[in-house]
Amino acid sequence: MINKYYDTDCNLSMLDGKTVAVIGFGSQGHAHSENLAESGVNVVVGLRKGSGHWAKAAAFAETCPNFKVMEVEEAAKAGDIVMMLVPDEMAADVYNKQVAPHMTEGKTLAFAHGFNIHFQAVQPPKNVDVIMIAPKGPGHTVRSQYVQGKGVPSLIAIHQDYTGKAKETALAYASGIGAGRAGILETTFREETETDLFGEQAVLCGGVCELIMAGFDTLVEAGYAPEMAYFETCHEMKLIVDLINEGGLAKMRYSVSNTAEYGDYRTGKRIITEETRQEMKKILGEIQDGTFASEFLTEMSPTGGRRTHFLAQRRVAAGHAIEKVGTELRKMMSWLKK
Ligand code: NDP
Ligand code: MG
Repeated sequence: MINKYYDTDCNLSMLDGKTVAVIGFGSQGHAHSENLAESGVNVVVGLRKGSGHWAKAAAFAETCPNFKVMEVEEAAKAGDIVMMLVPDEMAADVYNKQVAPHMTEGKTLAFAHGFNIHFQAVQPPKNVDVIMIAPKGPGHTVRSQYVQGKGVPSLIAIHQDYTGKAKETALAYASGIGAGRAGILETTFREETETDLFGEQAVLCGGVCELIMAGFDTLVEAGYAPEMAYFETCHEMKLIVDLINEGGLAKMRYSVSNTAEYGDYRTGKRIITEETRQEMKKILGEIQDGTFASEFLTEMSPTGGRRTHFLAQRRVAAGHAIEKVGTELRKMMSWLKK
């Protein structure tokens, strides 16, 4: 079983007198930096000049004396621990140009996702620690839970332990963002990266979106109203997923009607067939052998694929009938955020 840690296992005071540089102030960046600062850690946020997030970070700095905003390079220089919270496809470029020159002996380089280290897009020097602290939730939850005195369970991993204190640093950082209140689980860069990519491709994003669209198309092609198809194959997904999230598959099956539960057992295996499971194994193989990482980094590179295929696919997907009918129906739902 995986090792689990709580605040009592963490020594936050090991960060006393040190500075954490958080590069980026997006979803994760704002949560990590604000939580750490309110936990008493010295924080500098590194942003590019003209960043859309600069004003928001500067406003927080007004409320907190141990929190400063500066340009990426200056922050990387100031930080004893440098946490990279820029989009994964940008990290290598930002690291090589603005962070690497300041990764001097004994510093710590940190990530919230293992991708760039595991696939060697970022190659840190041998004389620094390399760690991961990855909350299992979006930044706004990491922040809102912290403010309520709670936390989001988070993963830690050690890629390189030069100082002999890499794990203590990871635990202290995790505690500083509130994770020790909920639980800290120890994994490896490889395990986190490969399971994360597999989950989002095969199940959460790729799997779910295609499942919804296939169900919608089947009903519409059979002559049913697109509005009905939308309600039954897309809108109600949240109800089911919330129940699973709260109490596992059993709670969902307990809450739906016996008719729905019987249909679930009867039909599920005809949708996710042995062939689907074989394909999942192939997809996992392409993640493990770097095929996906190399394809993704090439496609997203400003000098390589220039996002051509990525943006074209986004445009095609946005044109699907389910998006049009969904836009209209969601206008009738006053509780949804605009
Ligand atoms: P966001 O897209 O929300 O934030 C990106 C930040 O990076 C912005 O502040 C942006 O600045 C900055 N940035 C982008 N490009 C550059 C650049 N060239 N130079 C300097 N700054 C730049 O990212 P996320 O918070 O979603 O992701 C950060 C990391 O956290 C990733 O490794 C991700 O995998 C991981 N993660 C994300 C989770 C999530 O729920 N989102 C959950 C767990 C891990 P600007 O203001 O200038 O646009
Ligand atoms: Mg994930």
